Amino acid sequence: MKLSHRITQITGGGSDGWDVFYKAKQMIADGVPVLELTQGEHDIGTARPILDAMHDAATGGNTGYSPVQGALDLRRAVAARIQSRTGVATTADNILITPGGQAGLFAAHHAVIDDGDTALFIDPYYATYPGTLRAVGAVPKPVVTRAEDNFQPQAAALNALAPGAKSLLINTPNNPTGVIYDAQTLGNIVQTCTDHDLWLISDEVYDTQVWDGTHITPRSLPGMLERTIVVNSMSKSHAMTGSRIGWICAPAEVIRHIFNLANTTTYGVSGYIQDAALFALGQGAGPEERVAAPFRRRRAISLDLLKDQNVVKPVPAQGAMYMMLDIRATGMQGEEFAFALLAAHHVAVMPGESFGTAAAGHIRIAMTVADDEYAAALRTLIAFANDRAAANA
Ligand code: PMP
Repeated sequence: MKLSHRITQITGGGSDGWDVFYKAKQMIADGVPVLELTQGEHDIGTARPILDAMHDAATGGNTGYSPVQGALDLRRAVAARIQSRTGVATTADNILITPGGQAGLFAAHHAVIDDGDTALFIDPYYATYPGTLRAVGAVPKPVVTRAEDNFQPQAAALNALAPGAKSLLINTPNNPTGVIYDAQTLGNIVQTCTDHDLWLISDEVYDTQVWDGTHITPRSLPGMLERTIVVNSMSKSHAMTGSRIGWICAPAEVIRHIFNLANTTTYGVSGYIQDAALFALGQGAGPEERVAAPFRRRRAISLDLLKDQNVVKPVPAQGAMYMMLDIRATGMQGEEFAFALLAAHHVAVMPGESFGTAAAGHIRIAMTVADDEYAAALRTLIAFANDRAAANA
């Protein structure tokens, strides 16, 4: 039987650059101790009070169907949070609760893409982006950034691909680079979107992980309110990756249509998870800061360890739980370096090539292991890279 083109082409075929990751998993399955600096998963679980709230909600009876758009009290809390953080008037009508950011990205694109439309995204990119775009029938086109621009997308690159495109997907603070888009970059993005009548889909799942600089949501910029769909989730902010809870913030008309999609797909998000989310948001900034603190600390550890040598160069890490390291001075590509480091020292990192073409010659490390292990792994990595650079000189 023949499956649909739409579903069989989601992966796009070819190597997806995740071979190092799979190899590390295989080594672990074979009993080899591997230190993984690969995935964006916190080394802490969801905080106990949030789990207690979830438990109380479930045992208290909130186990039935919940409103498809999301519980009104949660949507109000999310709207109030967005309004207070961004200054943009936002109501519960602008919010739809989703099972995580991933589902939000899919729904947002589904809302604006017709079959064969061009959907732009920025390279380097979060690994699922091209698949998400193909899954809604889009033709994904990467806007390639450059290391020498600190991976900030440039006006010329945006404008070269914008004519005829339907949407642009951005992510700031960025996975995999840790870069936060500055006012100039956002100004260019606004200009491109307004000049070429593009929808802007803004993935802001790392907006509580800001170490340096300021996160500006493009929804707050002139002319953007009606064309911006913001996707966010509590996976990263509240260490709730497994709870699958997030939201879309968009013009009410967009939300009304995405409601119809939710009605035919997810049919809402578990009520007791929403109650836990409401409880967590009600705790204010404290829990978010506690979740972010280890990454802030490890970023400082990283910069300190990296400062006395010149082979492994950090991309300015302003936010998110990752560091992107330029290892071109070793003479190796990211994938070659990652395989060699894994074989020699059992430290697993992601090659920059896993995130598109722009971050070739780089590696991404997730700051997701305990401080001492993290520092030891980074020291090993730096020594390894310096040895290789000397050997290849
Ligand atoms: N966007 C980005 C940039 C991410 O890194 C992730 C998760 N790693 C997501 C979206 C999706 O996260 P979730 O579905 O858990 O909210």
